[in-house]
Amino acid sequence: MSKKSKHELENNKLNKRLRHAVGDAINDFNMIEEGDKIMVCLSGGKDSYALLDILRQLQASAPVDFELIAVNLDQKQPGFPEHVLPEYLESIGVPYKIVEEDTYSVVKRVIEEGKTTCSLCSRLRRGVLYRVAKELGCTKIALGHHRDDILQTLFLNMFYGGKLKAMPPKLVSDNGEHIVIRPLAYVKEKDLERYAESKQFPIIPCNLCGSQPNLQRQVIKEMLQDWDKRFPGRIESMFSAMQNVVPSHLADTELFDFASLQRGQKLKYGGDLAFDRETVPQRFSDGLEDDSSEIRVEMPTPKKIINILANKPKG
Ligand code: SF4
Repeated sequence: MSKKSKHELENNKLNKRLRHAVGDAINDFNMIEEGDKIMVCLSGGKDSYALLDILRQLQASAPVDFELIAVNLDQKQPGFPEHVLPEYLESIGVPYKIVEEDTYSVVKRVIEEGKTTCSLCSRLRRGVLYRVAKELGCTKIALGHHRDDILQTLFLNMFYGGKLKAMPPKLVSDNGEHIVIRPLAYVKEKDLERYAESKQFPIIPCNLCGSQPNLQRQVIKEMLQDWDKRFPGRIESMFSAMQNVVPSHLADTELFDFASLQRGQKLKYGGDLAFDRETVPQRFSDGLEDDSSEIRVEMPTPKKIINILANKPKG
């Protein structure tokens, strides 16, 4: 096979994988319904380009009818190349709206020099986008956050916010007026990077504002990337953990009624059994990631333990 066709084959596989991941998230969270008008927020970064592109592909084959409208907020950052998005959107024939709102000056005026401006900037952006969604009569707002953004947020909240809280794939906005969806919730950032490259999206750099990056998020991102290299499968396992929450085995008294626990009560996830049943992967502790060194230990059930004890030789 020639190098070119091998490359094409890999790109097709990647495209298919992304379509499946987005389709799964849409189904799992019932993100899109018949007649929806979805505002796709397009920043000019790789994630939002990929989001729009995959949603268009799914729109062509979906069993439900829905509309897409791409919206970009031109925040008047110096050097923002205003022509790039309209040219791209016209070339692919997607309805769009560019909203001009000088949030850049507001942020510069309010935030001290050298401080991170992202949180105020995103808050202002969100306010404008919600207003535009209403004006356009959109029923859903689609954002381009992916799996790794969601995990980073989980760790940020645990490390600095004292909360077990991430970024939901679907939510109701604070004012109760909009449903926000994140169809890339199951997609790896690495796949989005490769996809953007293969599609040659006209990326607009995100640091035009000159803001200091959010250092805490950056540190967490590097930590997760390091884990991903050294412990393959760990990121996937952590994301699965977010979909398999066991309130009776955490310590939130609002989430689980520990106070009323009674003897004999049947628990959905087991009592102390829940600790024993796991199949725990154990690695020999030389720190090397070698799958051949992985053994799986199945813990005996309590019944087996009673039998073992009953048959134990005396003395
Ligand atoms: S990087 Fe700049 S434009 Fe992006 S959220 Fe931060 S302040 Fe806003």
